[in-house]
Amino acid sequence: MKILVPVKRVIDYNVKPRVKADGTGVDLANVKMSMNPFDEIAVEEAIRLKEKGVATEIVAVSVGPQKAQETLRTALAMGADRAILVQTDDEVEPLGVAKLLKAIADEEQPGLVVLGKQAIDDDSNQVGQMLAALMGRPQGTFASKVEVEGDSVSVTREVDGGLETVKLSLPAIVTTDLRLNEPRYASLPNIMKAKSKPLATKTPADYGVDVAPRLKTLKVSEPPVRSAGIKVADVDALVAKLKELGVA
Ligand code: AMP
Repeated sequence: MKILVPVKRVIDYNVKPRVKADGTGVDLANVKMSMNPFDEIAVEEAIRLKEKGVATEIVAVSVGPQKAQETLRTALAMGADRAILVQTDDEVEPLGVAKLLKAIADEEQPGLVVLGKQAIDDDSNQVGQMLAALMGRPQGTFASKVEVEGDSVSVTREVDGGLETVKLSLPAIVTTDLRLNEPRYASLPNIMKAKSKPLATKTPADYGVDVAPRLKTLKVSEPPVRSAGIKVADVDALVAKLKELGVA
């Protein structure tokens, strides 16, 4: 079984984003970029399924600028077998990404597509669900456990009330949550090996997908600055203060 793993190049999770002075977006100039953390979890899960003998090939896909090659090389260094970059300098919205992934899935016929539950740059949480709808295939989102059994996959989902386990017939779409696994670091020899693994470069036009934006960002602004707290001497003073503020 082949596994398709979409990976997005995003602002590194350790970086504090700065909003551009004109409010049109987040300033990405000279900012460290990395693989979306939930996508690292997706790559790790695919590798574990391959190590168990369930999967035979892992194909990593990224939609983004030429630099997204670095993200794909990271996936290859972790253990993916080959990669596809759908190169574009335009910002592609979740529906555009889902349409491209659908076209790639039609070509590649994966048994599983394992995505992150959300990209940490715009927190959309949409691509996996849209892809499942476009492909007409079952989806198991927010996975904390994935077990392939014959021609189905059991996905334990992190839902508000606890855990829910669903059984999906393959081919299926899975999106990863934080507790699914701890992604491995790529070793130096594997980073070197990854340089010679195949990486195909395509364009959205190659797949006949129009990625023109449907949404318009009106304004991006910093969250309001929180006012400083105060210190109180003891519990009585705390209760008195809470009453004074009308919260107790
Ligand atoms: P989102 O719905 O944008 O929050 O993204 C959910 C997941 O879809 C991500 O964790 C990735 O696995 C995948 N994805 C989103 N955008 C891209 C992209 N540009 N290239 C590859 N995969 C993507």
